[in-house]
Parts: sequence; structure tokens; C-alpha cells
Amino acid sequence: MIIKKFDIAIIGGGPAGSSAALLLSKRGYSVCLIEKKIFPREVLCGEFISKEVIEYLKENLLYEGFLKLGPNLITSFRFSSENGKDITSSFEFDAYGIKRSILDNFLLTKAIESGAEIVQPAEVNALSRKGDDYLINLKAGQGDGITLNSKFIIAAYGKQNILDKVLGRGFYRRKSNLNGVKFHIEKSHFNNFNPEEIQIYTGDGIYCGLNAVDDKTITLCYLEKRDRTQSSSRELLLRLSRQNKKFCTLLREDFFEYLDKAPIYGTGNIYFGKRDIADEGIFYIGDAAGVIAPLAGDGIGMAIQSARLISDILTKNNLVKEKSVYDYKREWNKMFLRRIYIAGLIQKSILNNILRNPGIKMVSYIPGVLPSLIKYTRG
Ligand SMILES: Cc1cc2nc3c(=O)[nH]c(=O)nc-3n(C[C@H](O)[C@H](O)[C@H](O)COP(=O)(O)OP(=O)(O)OC[C@H]3O[C@@H](n4cnc5c(N)ncnc54)[C@H](O)[C@@H]3O)c2cc1C
Repeated sequence: MIIKKFDIAIIGGGPAGSSAALLLSKRGYSVCLIEKKIFPREVLCGEFISKEVIEYLKENLLYEGFLKLGPNLITSFRFSSENGKDITSSFEFDAYGIKRSILDNFLLTKAIESGAEIVQPAEVNALSRKGDDYLINLKAGQGDGITLNSKFIIAAYGKQNILDKVLGRGFYRRKSNLNGVKFHIEKSHFNNFNPEEIQIYTGDGIYCGLNAVDDKTITLCYLEKRDRTQSSSRELLLRLSRQNKKFCTLLREDFFEYLDKAPIYGTGNIYFGKRDIADEGIFYIGDAAGVIAPLAGDGIGMAIQSARLISDILTKNNLVKEKSVYDYKREWNKMFLRRIYIAGLIQKSILNNILRNPGIKMVSYIPGVLPSLIKYTRG
């Protein structure tokens, strides 16, 4: 058995893990990144990225490479409720649509190029202590017989994971009735889709976002309140098309026939409540630390911001544990608590049949409310 020692082991190679790996290895730390899936792979996401992600790409000289991936530029936002009311706003920042398979693969490749060592595919299924260090246990048969040992763990494994139970995180038993779903749909199944817009449609128990992610593809992503009588995750979308005329007008006749055969990326039971952020030498980043309501706030931006935060704190404190835990908890709360809270309120109001339409009316009548909400939920 070969033992490999690292300063920092990062679990999960999504946007949070890859950016932490890039930033920390650039600063000279020995970093190991463990990712369970072979890339490129798809994940549930609306695939809309904005300000914070673009800033990170620019700061780390990755923006030109990103543009070569062919992302779709998005300049404005349209919100259409079932009472026919539209709210629109132009973005005051750069925003794009891009498939997560492409973006995540790009970010992971850049992390490896910056010096992070990658163990992939390998799933971490337990952690144990060895003095001050952590021993990282991989699923049987993975990792070519190496044992990984590190001083710090950065947990970037996403919103729900077996490790939450293993690490005794209190929330892992909590149930929500919220379900997220994503489809990639060919443009030809829509009537006149404007690629420069991200469009949100609301209906009973569902809100749905659409944006182009390349020349040919539209990402359709929704969050729904699932009830026990529902037989499939397409059901509420069908109901939305009956309730929301503008959504219906957008869809070509063959849309639902196509959808029945299209691959579906989704997950149930998305927990949006509070989580622990750091514990001894384990620091949670990205969705593992806190999940922001989708379409009301950018989870990828938050994932990258939290990676930047932990990288700065570990560097500033020269990898001193206690001080880093204290600083990370304090700064994470300052940066993210308010935006998660506001995005949560927006989501609750949109999914509430009594609040939704009066709320939308109010936002449409008071100029400046929508740009402020966009600002407060997008860092
Ligand atoms: C319906 C919906 C729509 C959304 N739309 C948007 C959007 O349009 N824009 C936006 O910015 N955000 C959006 N988000 C949020 C965004 O998807 C997440 O915030 C983002 O993916 C978080 O990145 P992450 O790196 O923390 O986690 P993830 O992207 O989930 O990455 C975690 C990685 O860890 C790996 N992993 C997991 N467990 C292990 C393990 N035990 N061992 C090793 N590897 C492991 C996984 O394979 C994965 O690659 C949306 C979320 C939902 C639910």
C-alpha cells in the first residue's frame, strides 16, 4: 500500500472543488482532488452563469479559453407568470449559457494543469483521523491501491451525499418535497426562442427556466413541488403549458413527444436549509456548505466564491486549523447568508399560489425592485 500525503484533499471536482484546487495549488500547496465520475458528465443545473464566474475566469486568465468553448451570450431576463404579466430586465454584467459537462470539464482540466493531483474516478466513502491528519477512504477497488492522507479536507461534494450521513451532518435525514429537473432540448422544438434571454415561467407548484447553451441547444430546467399522486416529472411541466399561455406558445407541437424520449437529469429532496460550514479540519464549500434557490441565485457563482474564500483564509493563516475554522465560518456567513435567505423567500413566494401573482404585480409596478433582487441574490 502506497501512502500519499497532501496538505489539502478536496472531495468533488464540480465548480467548487476545481476552483479551490486551482487556487490552492497555484499558491504552492500540495493538493489532491478526488472525483467520483468520469468527465465530461452532465449534472442537474439551469446552466446559466454570470458575474462571479466570469470574474473568476478573468482573474485566473481562463476567460479566453472559456470563450473558445462556444458559450451562448445572455443579455437579459424575462419573467412570465401565468396571468400574462411579463417582467424584463437587462443584465448589467456578462452572463452566458453553457452545458455543465463542458464547463466542469474545462474547470477540472485547468485545476490539473495548475498542479493539483487528480484521483478519478474514485468515490470517498469515509474519513478517519490519524493524529492531526485525515485518512481518506475510497470505495473498494478505486484509487489504484493508494492511501490518501491530508492535513485538511475541503468537502466540495455537492448538495446531497452519502458523506453527509458518514460525517454525522444533522440535516441529512430532512425531507423536502422539492424536485429539480433538467433537459437539453433541440432549438427546433421551440417557436422563436430568443437566445439572448433567460426566460422564467411560473405556474402552480413549478417554476421553469430556459436559456440557450449553444447554437443548437436549449436547457430547460425546473423546480417543482412534488406530490404523491404525480406519476412522472413531466406532469407538472405539461400542467404549466396549460396554465401559462406564453410558455405554451413557445413550444412546438412535437415538444412533449420529444421530451418523452429525451434524457432527464434530476434529483429529488433538495434541502435548502442551514448546514454546518466547518468542523475541525473539514471545510465545506459550494453546495455542500449551502444551497441557494435555483434561478433566484447562482449556485455556481457561490461555489466559486466559497472556493476563493477558503483558499484565501488557509493561505492567510498559513494552514493553522483553529483560526481558519473561525475565519471561514464568520466570512462565509457574511458573504452568503443574506443572499440565500432572499433567494429562498423569492422561491417560496413563486411556489405559493396565493403570493405568486400579487408579488409579481408588485415587482412589475415598482421600478428598481427587480434589478435590486438580481443584485442581492447574485453577489
Ligand atoms: C434545479 C437547479 C437549477 C440550477 N441552476 C443553476 C444555474 O442556472 N446557474 C447556477 O449558477 N447554479 C444553478 N444551480 C446550482 C448549481 O448547480 C450548484 O450550485 C453547483 O453545481 C454547485 O457546485 P459544487 O461544485 O458545489 O457541486 P457539484 O456541481 O454538485 O459537484 C460535486 C462533485 O462532487 C462529486 N462527488 C460527489 N460525491 C463524491 C464523493 N463521495 N467522492 C468523490 N467525488 C464526489 C460529484 O461527482 C460532482 O462532480 C441549480 C441547481 C438546481 C437544483
